[in-house]
Amino acid sequence: MNLILFGPPGVGKGTQAMRLAATHDLLHISTGDMLRSAIAEGTPLGMTAKGFVESGGLVPDDIIIGLVREVLESTESKGFLLDGFPRTLEQARALDDLFRELAIHEVRIVMLTAPEQELIDRMVKRGLEQGRKDDTAETIRHRLEVYNAQTEPVKTFYEKSRGVKLVDGLGTVDDVTARIEKVL
Ligand code: AMP
Repeated sequence: MNLILFGPPGVGKGTQAMRLAATHDLLHISTGDMLRSAIAEGTPLGMTAKGFVESGGLVPDDIIIGLVREVLESTESKGFLLDGFPRTLEQARALDDLFRELAIHEVRIVMLTAPEQELIDRMVKRGLEQGRKDDTAETIRHRLEVYNAQTEPVKTFYEKSRGVKLVDGLGTVDDVTARIEKVL
């Protein structure tokens, strides 16, 4: 199984992705985690990405597409789960090209949803608990704007091509996992 877990910031993609990857033995590809590690290690990628990530903007498409391409080209895993990618139409189109090149046909898209105020509350809480630099009030607002302007169109793109399974992201972590499992 190959899965794209899609949805706004704060909806719980990372938490659900970890669970699904473990249950279904999938390679969990989180572009956000990859960038945070690169920033923490001070690699050239991290130095380029730092300003974009910490201000809540998007890292340029060519950099992120290159990163995902490297992982997908080299994985031996039978299935993967993309978390936080694609986030722009350009990324979605490049990913389709990559799937064609690598003869990857079966990809399911699950979109988690929650009202905007819930997303804000969750990110503020995460900022307090985990100290993520982009979980501050102003940056959260900017990330939601970026999501609405640049990432939301990816939903329409997939609705027209592969289809999108919508899953309510409200409730306990277990509730949401159960709902995802049901649509898979
Ligand atoms: P996330 O952990 O998925 O919320 O990602 C955290 C931050 O990493 C985002 O706000 C972006 O700055 C950057 N990022 C993660 N994935 C992408 C992507 N696919 N395209 C551009 N920037 C990304």
